Amino acid sequence: FPPSHIRNFSIIAHVDHGKSTLADRLLELTGAINPGAKQYLDKLQVEKERGITVKAQTASLVFKHEGEQYLLNLIDTPGHVDFSYEVSRSLAACQGAILLVDASQGVQAQTVANFWLAFEQDLAIIPVLNKIDHPGAEPARVTAQLAEAFDLDPAAVLAISAKTGAGLDRVLPAVVERVPPPRGDLAAPLRALLFDAYHDEYRGVVCLLAVADGAVGRGDRVTAAAAGQSYDVVEVGLLAPEPVPTPSLRAGQVGYVLAGMKDTRQARVGDTWHAARAPVPAFPGFKPAQSMVFAGIFPVSADGHERLAAAMARLALTDASVAVRRENSNALGAGFRCGFLGLLHLDVFRQRLEQEHGADVLVTAPTVPCRVVLQGGESIELSNPADFPTDVRVEAVWEPTVRATVVTPEEYVGALMQLCTAARGELLDHVVLDPGRTMLKYTLPLAELGGDFYDELKSASSGYASLDYEEGEPRRAPMQRLDILLNGEPVDALARIVHRDRAEPLGRRLCAALAGALPQQQFQVAVQAAAGGRVVARDTIRALRKNVLAKCYGGDVSRKRKLLEKQKEGKKRMRQLGSVEVPTDVFHDLMKVR
Ligand code: GDP
Ligand code: MG
Repeated sequence: FPPSHIRNFSIIAHVDHGKSTLADRLLELTGAINPGAKQYLDKLQVEKERGITVKAQTASLVFKHEGEQYLLNLIDTPGHVDFSYEVSRSLAACQGAILLVDASQGVQAQTVANFWLAFEQDLAIIPVLNKIDHPGAEPARVTAQLAEAFDLDPAAVLAISAKTGAGLDRVLPAVVERVPPPRGDLAAPLRALLFDAYHDEYRGVVCLLAVADGAVGRGDRVTAAAAGQSYDVVEVGLLAPEPVPTPSLRAGQVGYVLAGMKDTRQARVGDTWHAARAPVPAFPGFKPAQSMVFAGIFPVSADGHERLAAAMARLALTDASVAVRRENSNALGAGFRCGFLGLLHLDVFRQRLEQEHGADVLVTAPTVPCRVVLQGGESIELSNPADFPTDVRVEAVWEPTVRATVVTPEEYVGALMQLCTAARGELLDHVVLDPGRTMLKYTLPLAELGGDFYDELKSASSGYASLDYEEGEPRRAPMQRLDILLNGEPVDALARIVHRDRAEPLGRRLCAALAGALPQQQFQVAVQAAAGGRVVARDTIRALRKNVLAKCYGGDVSRKRKLLEKQKEGKKRMRQLGSVEVPTDVFHDLMKVR
């Protein structure tokens, strides 16, 4: 296929607007998969369960249009805000995008965010209304929204049902006609964009590349510019969507490359590949994976560290965007401090540790990376609340923010503005998309998006508001370290970084929860919360009066032995904090207190 007969495109959509269904139908139409083999493109188990695409999956289709054969590369993008950098890199491999909008739901926050990502990349945009079979579909109204929000020509809007197949035959012809072919120079030296990579148990790291200039084939020696490493190419090919080896990938093509890479960390999304010793200008916009949320991960049983370490190592191989470091906690022992792209990423990682690797884990309350400026001007980047200095004067704390887009029916605007203000938000913009639908833009502290924000947003709008966000500028805020103390000893795994106004109420809730959950001990235990050098809340657990068990089981040796065995098992799930024994379950519950 010469570049004139290649089209590289993506489907961008708000979650549930039908991206996976449409992708599957397009694959069916071109004979790539069996009809009925559902949602081929959502592979990971967690993705299937949650119905979201975490990792992008790409496929090449061969399509006949007006007597000519075209190679259409459908480049899938991850479907969640945590992965917006990866979305923008996958779009950089395209010349066009289908902007898919549910005709009953209309323009939503992710529609807006994804449109702008595509627009910034200068992509040809094909607006498509989906679900026109839906009883609530309002194609005329949604077309008007698209025209208003994005200045799109209403005549260019296609209307389809990915479910019934209505209008589907117009989609791929529109891709051929409206998306420009890739501009590439086959004679120039190799210049390729790595836009995705994944780990395959049998084949090692599979890199997905969009070749802009030149060609790459088996036996070539190539260099990944940002990673600064060179490799011998073992195999190249197309994803149809199963890998099909080809002799080479040429200018304009998209496909996979195997280069003997062991660790996905070497395959950096956004990196530029060139022939060894023949550097070329890098693709703009490369950025190393940046952790937006940190959490400690510990084994539930005190003796589970080995197993967790092995699971971590295996999973980290397959997910280059997670940062992993060893951590030692006075409360939970040896574990890991991990950095994630966002809260969903953290959640998916935990779920995969448990489901795919059988590890039982305890995850500490997530924390956002703050910069703490000390007296004298020195500053530190925090990824762990326990590192927040208490012995030196803190001059300022800078917290990360996001620029959030909220799209909502008009009647909920008031409630949503109240919610955003309570979350320390700053209104940036307020746009009426059509009579009845409004878009709000806010700067929000990233820390406030955790917890219940999303649920509250949904309930404040009867489920109608949608949210998307991108990274914002760090902002100064009076953040403090909140410590929980047992008999005067701080429990490091329970420390948090909180806004000054939240320290006391949260401290109270944590103390009450801890005092309520801790089993009684042989002596009195004081539970305290401290922030900014003072105790902000306290509770007491009274001592057990007498040893009831000794009396009941004193005479029966075998029952006593059984009980001791059971206790030994139970002990593995206990942690010793000074003189206090804390069941791991209690930590579980405390991490959830907001
Ligand atoms: P994604 O999150 O954008 O990938 O959306 P999915 O493809 O997973 O679709 C979300 C839901 O919408 C699923 O329950 C689909 O069966 C349904 N769906 C997709 N396309 C259509 C359509 O054209 N009509 C109707 N009625 N439902 C659809
Ligand atoms: Mg999907």
